[in-house]
Amino acid sequence: SRAWSLKTRPQGMPKHTDFEMIDVSQSELADGEVRIANRWLSVDPYMRGRMNDVKSYTPPFELGKPMQGGAIGEVVESRAEGLKAGDLVQHMAGWRDEATLPANQVQKLPDLAVDPQAFLGQLGMPGMTAYFGLLEVAAAKSGDTVFVSAAAGAVGSTVVQVAKAKGMTVIGSAGGADKCACVKSLGADAVIDYKSGTPVVKALGEAVAALGSGGIDVYFDNVGGEHLDAALAHAKLHARFAICGMIDVYNSGAATELRYLARLIGNRIQIRGFIVSDFMDRAAEFYTDMGALLKAGTLQRQETVHDGLDAMPDAFLGLFSGGNTGKMLVKL
Ligand code: NDP
Repeated sequence: SRAWSLKTRPQGMPKHTDFEMIDVSQSELADGEVRIANRWLSVDPYMRGRMNDVKSYTPPFELGKPMQGGAIGEVVESRAEGLKAGDLVQHMAGWRDEATLPANQVQKLPDLAVDPQAFLGQLGMPGMTAYFGLLEVAAAKSGDTVFVSAAAGAVGSTVVQVAKAKGMTVIGSAGGADKCACVKSLGADAVIDYKSGTPVVKALGEAVAALGSGGIDVYFDNVGGEHLDAALAHAKLHARFAICGMIDVYNSGAATELRYLARLIGNRIQIRGFIVSDFMDRAAEFYTDMGALLKAGTLQRQETVHDGLDAMPDAFLGLFSGGNTGKMLVKL
């Protein structure tokens, strides 16, 4: 079977030559193991951090070894109790076509009557990030005005829809007219095209004025930089900021100067970073609430799909150039 490995650690924006396809021989199954044919592979912005040789909340990818990432696959052979050929499972041995894993590293998909790839998006890691980031970390509630960046992406598009489902007013930012139209179609009350040439701080001020909300109560940050500064500039008294991601700095390492940082003080703004794994023990609650919203048709699922294992680097690099609307996936 085949797997992608990291050949060189990227400097700045990753390049195709940083990746290399390697052959992996699959051994005989040991007791308690399963063989899985992967069907859907995930690419996510956090993987950029794992390409650097620095200590972080996930260890760096090892050069020359198969990379890891979220995946959905079908069990094709099993020597593990409770798992049989044909079962659909999720696991972290992505970036490859086939995986052999001990059963304790594999979870059967919950029976929620949705397409399996939803467990890499709205019903998976990005969905949990959006759900708990908005409702727990930012403590957003009905009536709040919520600003969210990268609003057409996997996490952002879910934040927009959960916020609308829970009675909030939403301002979403995304790059380009098509993405902004998509964010609007998901229910956002106002959209900001950060690529239009208007500074985000000015566009956000105009959106807030048009909505008559007097500012934002919540900022869900996926981008950092200019977006974070604009959110500080327009935050209301006691605003809460959930710092989910800062994709604007993942490839440059350089943080933008924040002109409005001192607003933290006068406006008593609360700012809190989080990692989705902080909420893993609450998966049951998440599946119940999000599963019901999906079933009721309250949530729309957006996906951008690349075909075949060879397309993994393209899909991954697309995350940094806005190549995806909704969850970026690779179908095998
Ligand atoms: P997305 O689906 O949102 O894909 C990334 C999107 O970011 C792109 O489509 C692009 O949209 C936008 N983008 C890329 N570069 C820039 C830039 N320089 N400035 C502004 N926008 C940019 O990815 P995810 O939904 O998976 O992740 C969103 C964020 O959430 C990331 O920062 C990620 O690291 C973070 N995250 C954090 C987690 C946690 O536990 N804290 C868990 C999961 C994700 P556009 O075309 O609009 O520019």
